[in-house]
Amino acid sequence: MAAEYGNARIPGTGSRTPASHRKRRERNRVGFAISPFGGASGRGRAAPELNRRRFLGTLAAATVAGVGAARLVVDPQPRTFAQAPSADVATSGPTAPSALLPPPPLSARIPLPGGGALTKVPGEGDLLALTVDDGVSSEVVRAYTQFAKDTGIRLTFFVNGIYKSWTENLGMLRPLVDSGQVQLGNHTWSHPDLTTLSKDEIAQQITRNDEFLKKTYGIGAKPYWRPPYAKRNAAVDAVAADLGYTVPTLWNGSLSDSTLITEDYIVKMADQYFTPQAIVIGHLNHLPVTHVYPQLVEIIRDRNLRTVTLNDVFLKTP
Ligand SMILES: [Zn+2]
Repeated sequence: MAAEYGNARIPGTGSRTPASHRKRRERNRVGFAISPFGGASGRGRAAPELNRRRFLGTLAAATVAGVGAARLVVDPQPRTFAQAPSADVATSGPTAPSALLPPPPLSARIPLPGGGALTKVPGEGDLLALTVDDGVSSEVVRAYTQFAKDTGIRLTFFVNGIYKSWTENLGMLRPLVDSGQVQLGNHTWSHPDLTTLSKDEIAQQITRNDEFLKKTYGIGAKPYWRPPYAKRNAAVDAVAADLGYTVPTLWNGSLSDSTLITEDYIVKMADQYFTPQAIVIGHLNHLPVTHVYPQLVEIIRDRNLRTVTLNDVFLKTP
C-alpha cells in the first residue's frame, strides 16, 4: 500500500493537488475538534487594522538578522539565542518597524509534558508556535523561507520528503535550519493515513522520512512527528515511539489552508488563532498564504507574541 502513495502523489509542476491533500481542510477540522484544547482560543475578535501598504514597505526593512547572535547548538537541531534587530533597522519615527520579538532564553525551556499528543504550548505566556506542513508547492516553501529570512519569524516545518520542494529549496532553507530559526519535524514520507497501514508500513513511512531529513538537512527530527490528517491510534503511536518519535504534535488553531481558500479567510483564521501559547497549523501547499505575510506579521506584532520553534520551548527528552 505504501507504494501506492509513491509517484502518483508527487505533485506536477502545475497547480494540481495530490488527492491526499484535497480533503485536508475537512480533515483538519476533525483533528482540531478532537483536540482537548480545541476551540479554547477561538473567540470572535475584531480584525486588527491592517495597513498593507505600510507593511509592504517595511517588511523588507524589518529583517531580523542573526548578526552577532550567539549560536548555541541544541541536539537534535540547533537554535539561535535571542536575536537582536540588525543595525540598519529604523528604530524611531512613525514608520519605524518593530522587529518580531526574539525567542525566550534557552534557560526558559521546559520539559516535554509527555502523556500523549502535544496540542498547545503549556502554561501561560506569550509564545506562538506556527507549524507549517507538507510542501506540495515548491513555490510556497520558497516563499515561506523568504518570509522567515525577511522577518525573523520562527517556524517549524513538518516535512513530507516525497515532495521535491524540500530538495529544490535546500540551498535557501538549510542556513535557517542550521541556525535553528526553522525546525524540521517528521510528517511521514508521503502523507498516508497511518491508521490504514500495517506496522511495517507505518515504520517505513516514518523511517524513510527520518533518513531523508538526516541525509538532506543533516538533522534529526526526533521526537516530533505529526500524523497526516491527525489520524493516529495506539498502534501508530507505539510504532512511532519505538523509532524515537515520542511526541505526536497536533495543534489548537489552524489557518485552514490545506486546501485552496481565500487570502481574507486565511487572515481571519490567523486573527482567530494567533493567541498566546497556541500551536497553529498551516500548509506549504497553496499560494494565497504567501500573499498575506504582512497581515500575519501585523497580528503577531500587535499581540506582542513571540514566535517559537518547538526546540525553543522544550528541553530535549531525557
Ligand atoms: Zn499534512
